[in-house]
Amino acid sequence: RPSPSPARSRPAPDHGGSADSCRVRVAVRLRPKNSEDLAHGADFDSCVELQPESKRLKLKKNNWSCESYRFDEVFSENASQKRVYEVVAKPVSVLEGYNGTVMAYGQTGTGKTYTVGRLGKDDPSERGIMLYLESVQDLLAPEKTNIPIVEDAKTGEVSLPGAAIVEIKDLEHAFQLLQIGEANRHAANTKMNTESSRSHAILIIHLQRSSRIKEENCTSLSNDTHDILPDDLPLVLKSKLLIVDLAGSERIDKSGSEGHMIEEAKFINLSLTSLGKCINALAENGPHIPTRDSKLTRILRDSFGGTARTSLVVTIGPSSRHYSETSSTIMFGQRAMKVMNTIKLKEE
Ligand code: ADP
Repeated sequence: RPSPSPARSRPAPDHGGSADSCRVRVAVRLRPKNSEDLAHGADFDSCVELQPESKRLKLKKNNWSCESYRFDEVFSENASQKRVYEVVAKPVSVLEGYNGTVMAYGQTGTGKTYTVGRLGKDDPSERGIMLYLESVQDLLAPEKTNIPIVEDAKTGEVSLPGAAIVEIKDLEHAFQLLQIGEANRHAANTKMNTESSRSHAILIIHLQRSSRIKEENCTSLSNDTHDILPDDLPLVLKSKLLIVDLAGSERIDKSGSEGHMIEEAKFINLSLTSLGKCINALAENGPHIPTRDSKLTRILRDSFGGTARTSLVVTIGPSSRHYSETSSTIMFGQRAMKVMNTIKLKEE
């Protein structure tokens, strides 16, 4: 029976906007108090109050000044990984053929890796890369330390020629690759005498799927999905998922950097500052988006102002001692909520 194309038949995404434009979705996640927080005993003072029903967060500067911010979701310290996955990662829907990004931003120690690292375990992986001093290292082939970034002149699509692309056989194989990537990231950090908080790690998963899945071969899609597939749909849908564990967003002076670590911190500052500038420009519909200022922003080009569905989790700690970092993380998240992407299927 005649049916509309999947793009048109899908309801408008709850990312907001019409069926083909979608806003970057931003959630805030509060880390539970840790031993450092508790070491301050009765002096512990929280600057954060969450109101999950209204998706609001109150940030207390002092007894006289308190601001309230609304997010797409606020996760308390008790939120389960499953719930975070359901709300943050699932709607990104790369399985339907859309590009997607799941990214964590926040101060070191607030739960970025805890949040996106574990999401990775639920998904098959193809490639892990890490950015160090503006150099891109392949975490599946760590001897390759300076992978170029190439942009297709016509489509603007970014690729990393020379980086390993591994075809996933099954979930077990995906976990093995993730473990290799994690071990290589750890080894690289040890060699450079640095912390993972000073590097960005990006897992890229390429997905290719036949748009006409025979019912007898289909175990994961509901029958309804077959009904909406039109006869004239191209044979192959291609999509890409980026899972991004950013370096800590704290300022250099807070991370106690010395010597070459200052060099390192400058590059991290450069890439995170460029990302902030791109997001500001996009949020304000500025005439120029400075995507080319850093490798990070070139790789994330599709994630902000591009064709991907993007979910960002900003992670914060509760302690008022980190008020200014927490405040700047929240402001980053608020600006990212204004960024619109245009989602579309990439077909062959
Ligand atoms: P980051 O990647 O931002 O530097 P991590 O993800 O390494 O931070 O988290 C720092 C520590 O806090 C880890 O020991 C982690 O297990 C713990 N942690 C972070 N977020 C949570 C959470 N929501 N629930 C429980 N423990 C958490």
